[in-house]
Amino acid sequence: MTAPRYWYNIAADHPELAEDYLDPATGRALKAEDLADVFPPELAEQEFDHDRTWIPIPEPVREAYSRWRPSPLRRARGLERALGTKCRLYYKYEGGSPIGSHKANSGVAQAHYAKRAGARRVVAETGAGQWGTAISMGSAFQELDCEVFMVRNSFDSKPGRRLYMETFGSTVHASPSPLTSVGKEALRADPDSPGSLGLAIAEAVESAKEDRRTFYSLGSAFNFVCMHQTVIGLELAGQLAEADVEPDLLISCIGGGSSFAGLVFPFFGMGAKGRKQPKFLAVESNAVPTVTAGEFAYDHGDSAKLTPLVRMYTLGHRFSPPGIHAGGLRYHGLSPQVSKFIHDGHGSAVAIPQIEVFEAALKFTRSEGIIPAPEAAHSVAAAIRTATEHRGEELDIVFLLTGHGHFDMTAYGTYIGGGMEESATPTETISASLRESIGGIDRPEPQQVSKPVASGKGSDSFQEWWRRHFDGAATPATAEAKPAPAAPKGAADLSGHAVVTTRTLGDLAADATEVRLAAGAVVTPLAQDELSRRSIRIVRNS
Ligand SMILES: *Cc1c(COP(=O)(O)O)cnc(C)c1O
Repeated sequence: MTAPRYWYNIAADHPELAEDYLDPATGRALKAEDLADVFPPELAEQEFDHDRTWIPIPEPVREAYSRWRPSPLRRARGLERALGTKCRLYYKYEGGSPIGSHKANSGVAQAHYAKRAGARRVVAETGAGQWGTAISMGSAFQELDCEVFMVRNSFDSKPGRRLYMETFGSTVHASPSPLTSVGKEALRADPDSPGSLGLAIAEAVESAKEDRRTFYSLGSAFNFVCMHQTVIGLELAGQLAEADVEPDLLISCIGGGSSFAGLVFPFFGMGAKGRKQPKFLAVESNAVPTVTAGEFAYDHGDSAKLTPLVRMYTLGHRFSPPGIHAGGLRYHGLSPQVSKFIHDGHGSAVAIPQIEVFEAALKFTRSEGIIPAPEAAHSVAAAIRTATEHRGEELDIVFLLTGHGHFDMTAYGTYIGGGMEESATPTETISASLRESIGGIDRPEPQQVSKPVASGKGSDSFQEWWRRHFDGAATPATAEAKPAPAAPKGAADLSGHAVVTTRTLGDLAADATEVRLAAGAVVTPLAQDELSRRSIRIVRNS
């Protein structure tokens, strides 16, 4: 199986998920050119692209991907045995990227676009260090200078992460820093400020705005980041088809939401084209319960209010996240597309306490051998919950293991030593943050999306799954993708299929000479073999 050649842009198929970004001062909807002073033009275009379903992955990015993609899909048989469940558990493992997480998928892409736009430098913020490492690697590949504003708290407590970035050649500043006006102001107010992700974002954005040849890069939440991560779901679709598995449930954790989007959006798109659709579950920490306890409202992405107003699930931009070990999940907001997706009822969310997360992580390590990143361990915990609750049913459950936990051994030590604390954030803290953060924002009326709303066909099979497994109606799964009827004159139109398997090819006429495929369709190796054996030509729609 080869890595995908296209990213999947859900906004083209489901424009209702792509709401406008608003200028906080005027309430006007932003356009690509409004982002031009901080992002490379091609990324600014991707952010607002509602037209192209399939966006070609540039050759240098595909080459970088080939170092670790396709990422493996594995069956967790050891974990199944340990749980005594009839459910089949699978995990897609992103920890095999050079830096050990899925963030590499967007890191190499963003550095490529910056270089192509003539940048000499990229700037980024990083909390726990994952994104800083990803953009440092991308910049090293492109021979770009890279500066990272690292939240002071992690800068001091995670020297390994800082040195990792410096080894790639990056310059790492503790944030708040004396290099920007927001940083100086924060230091004046409190010389010992531990910093925050919101402040680090503000510093990085300010420093990108100052220099025309410096671009800002970010690790999650934005549409283009979510889109770069769709290589995960596209590969998974091919791998599952190859194994003849139709998943019942896909699970991923949500920080900014990019890995969830990357896993789920391609499947949602396929569901809309008539395939059986799995259920989608987003997992958050009960310390930062953005979806389960936040509001779906207009808010800023950063505490300095430099970013546009977007409608999303939020705990308020003034929310100060508690110091949980899953640093990547400590974000007050969530990708607007992922937020709308969940708000529209296409997926659901669950919040899990820290101790249950680490208990699950240990179970996984001891049965499968991999130490998961604490963020990824949230997905493991949710998979364990489901496989235990439905232990008598043969569900096919896939969870995304976004990264390994080799840099988080201190957290594991705390858990093993019995010193880990409970993580729930009190309801009063959340309501106070929401009141202070969005109480004062004059919430604009929901904006008109620029295209008519899609028909939402995909939700039928979602409802059916829900009924079958959770409402106890015992209808066996029969929904199968119907192959498009073969056209008579040797040419067959299979462009309705996002994944082409030997089964898809089953109804091809014996004298077929050509198949027409969607630009981004994944062809499994077995199907590829059959096509070349029968000398059938592939024509891709552009
Ligand atoms: C950053 C991070 C996350 C959370 O970010 P998303 O954008 O929601 O995917 C999850 N897992 C790991 C390992 C991370 O580094």
